Amino acid sequence: MAAMLEFLKARTRSLTEAANGLRRKSPRGKAAVTFALALGFEHVWRRYGDTLALDDVTLDVPPGKVLCLLGPSGCGKTTLLRIAAGVERPSSGRVLIDGEEVAGPDRFVPPEKRGVGLMFQDFALFPHLTILDNVAFGLKFLTRREARTEALAALERVGLGHYAGEYPHILSGGEQQRVALARAIAPRPGILLMDEPFSGLDTRLREAMREDTLAILHETCATCIVVTHDAEEAMRMGDSVALMRKGRIVQTGDALDLYRAPKDLDAARTFSDLNEVPARIESGRAATPLGTFKANGLADGAEAVVCVRQGGVRLLKAGKGVPGRVLDTRFLGDVALVEVAVQGLDAPILARMRESDAPAQGTEIGVAVDPGAVLVFAALNGVSP
Ligand code: ADP
Repeated sequence: MAAMLEFLKARTRSLTEAANGLRRKSPRGKAAVTFALALGFEHVWRRYGDTLALDDVTLDVPPGKVLCLLGPSGCGKTTLLRIAAGVERPSSGRVLIDGEEVAGPDRFVPPEKRGVGLMFQDFALFPHLTILDNVAFGLKFLTRREARTEALAALERVGLGHYAGEYPHILSGGEQQRVALARAIAPRPGILLMDEPFSGLDTRLREAMREDTLAILHETCATCIVVTHDAEEAMRMGDSVALMRKGRIVQTGDALDLYRAPKDLDAARTFSDLNEVPARIESGRAATPLGTFKANGLADGAEAVVCVRQGGVRLLKAGKGVPGRVLDTRFLGDVALVEVAVQGLDAPILARMRESDAPAQGTEIGVAVDPGAVLVFAALNGVSP
């Protein structure tokens, strides 16, 4: 019921955007609006011989939303995307588009019948076709004239309409990426799947391309999965983020949920820069030289890790808090990262603060921890770091 309501809302939004698109004319042109489709995975498994690439994945992407699939290399992200596209079959389980089975025990709908667009990391433009014809390539269901009109609109939306008659070799890496995006959105797919779409770009270009792509995705209203191994990118782009590990979905939620309440130590490491302090649970608290903290449900005697966000370490005047000494101060622009040796701890900790507040190397200080910046987890494999 809720899913249906979302779907109807998304469709209404699509139509409103379409009408607005006709009324307003932005200098770059607007992306053509699509009918967003819900995408669902139900208990999907995929084996390759002895390798279990997907281990019981259940996941829903509501219509018109962007889900970022985040995880380390080899955890199964691409396999899940390929299964959604229909270029790979699940070993078992079902894939549903708008509630209709497109892969499963009873049915297999081929890729070209799914209304799914793809933009892969190693996208290739045809060198012998003009840029316009590259974008028009997938529009086989239209007449040549209609295809070129649609392709030109998509090229204009990514800011490259003026290159329509040129050939791909004159484009920079970032421009090629834009053409690939234009090619992906030109057929107005209800679902768009993007595999590490920005990984080939340098940092500045990557940020600009990410922002532009997000704006285009919101305009088109397509339901989208973006695969990435970059947590910041996932949090920036996704309406929701699904964290994967070893073929399984570990946790899903919006960026703030995952940042504030990561499910385990690995998830916490993915979403923030942490100091990890070994601890043992005693009388319901995790005891460390930096203080004691709520045990997060762990039993007395358990080995634990107290994770302190770098921004939650307070540096005080000597004589207050736990005694410490500044080993090093690294300036990172507006902020500084201060490395501090703390009495009772084997390894130094890092404090992140305003550059103007950072004490000089060698300063004797006191250290305190903001309890709101602490997460306590069971040590991995029962062993503290
Ligand atoms: P990711 O995209 O997260 O890097 P993949 O989905 O590409 O991960 O791969 C998941 C696992 O499945 C890896 O161990 C990979 O080696 C394996 N795998 C993927 N495709 C194949 C294949 N065609 N044949 C055999 N093993 C595969």
